Amino acid sequence: MRHCKTMLHFWIFGLAFVLALPIMANAGQFEDFRFPREQSLTKDGYPTPLSGKPITKTPVIAKVEGASLKKYPEHYIPGKESLADNEMRITVLGSGGPAPVRRAQAASGYLVELGNGKNFIFDIGPGTSGNLYSMGVHPALLDKVFINHLHLDHCGGIFPLFDAMGWARNTPLHVWGPSGTTPELGTAAFTENVRKAAEWHVQSKRDLLPTGGTTIISHEIDVSKFSPKNPRQLVYNKNDVRIYAFPVVHCIEGSLGYRLEWNGLVFVYTADSEPSTFEAEQAKGADVFIHEVFPSPEDFAAHTKMPLEHSKNALGEHTSPEELGLVFSIAKPRLGVGSHYTLGDALIDNAFESLGKVYDGPVLLAHDLSVINVMPEQIVIRQAKTSMLASVPEAPKLEGVDMNPGQPSKSQTPSWLKKTRIQK
Ligand SMILES: [Zn+2]
Ligand SMILES: [Zn+2]
Repeated sequence: MRHCKTMLHFWIFGLAFVLALPIMANAGQFEDFRFPREQSLTKDGYPTPLSGKPITKTPVIAKVEGASLKKYPEHYIPGKESLADNEMRITVLGSGGPAPVRRAQAASGYLVELGNGKNFIFDIGPGTSGNLYSMGVHPALLDKVFINHLHLDHCGGIFPLFDAMGWARNTPLHVWGPSGTTPELGTAAFTENVRKAAEWHVQSKRDLLPTGGTTIISHEIDVSKFSPKNPRQLVYNKNDVRIYAFPVVHCIEGSLGYRLEWNGLVFVYTADSEPSTFEAEQAKGADVFIHEVFPSPEDFAAHTKMPLEHSKNALGEHTSPEELGLVFSIAKPRLGVGSHYTLGDALIDNAFESLGKVYDGPVLLAHDLSVINVMPEQIVIRQAKTSMLASVPEAPKLEGVDMNPGQPSKSQTPSWLKKTRIQK
């Protein structure tokens, strides 16, 4: 009897082990992420944050009546879905702001992947790099960043991206961004100072790792050239991808919006801005228009513990949910996205209620790792399930990459200290 029971245990254990094998083989790969919250809805019926559903009531938007539509799995899992030739995938790397950066809401950042294999990053705020590197894109293919403005919640996460040098990205990092009223307020000064701040880091790796990734190339966009007659500048034009920059109203001179056009699809991102008819005009015809939105000054003050007066000052440079609705009602995007919002169940309902007074088109309230697939026929919104222990995918073969390590730094660890190294 006892023997039988032991055998039964053995078989049950064995069966469980065999069933678990595929899961164990996948550990550390792509399917080890669980959403921390049960699927649930807010009082007004919107998916709650962290429950694995995008915060919208319109997760599928048909653009062409009666077209046969591509079916997608419930969640986007990196490495398991390739893009069609005519498809764009937009991932929210950071949906939050600076006050403060939250575990579940990195500051601003968006990844745009195109069916032609090209990738573009828009803003690289603090906390975004973990989400970015969990997306299954090799860092060598992440060398183009478009910064909207130089507030640190939009560019302060640049170091982890720069730090892909040597081990992954062995070509320069290209950074587009606004000039300022004076040179020290511009993107060229910012990138120069980032590179200077990394000098010890770079020298310490000389003669160990390739040095091709240790350069930042700045593409500064001259904001003085904008005018009512010259509302946008073409700042990138390659492989049928055209990216235009245009100015937005935010704090001081030097804040931009971007409009990416490719293969008949249009993505517009304005980062931080006060609502203006100008930006709304620049976003017309967009499939996806990502615009900032903030809670009311009272809710924001409660979240940040800022005095209400300061909260009102800060939010004067931004957009309320109702104002976001007014912007969308002029631009009329296929999908309007509100981002940079402080997520919370009650605050979600507040945002949609205020916005809904003036606008009834499809709207997503962005959450980290919301994924938007855009095709000519439809737009589909899901949450990504990405590995919390993601490994680097296979390196792409790139032409003309210099893999030679440079000359060693003149700075060396003092010999007396080095002599104390423990020998095997
Ligand atoms: Zn800002
Ligand atoms: Zn911001």
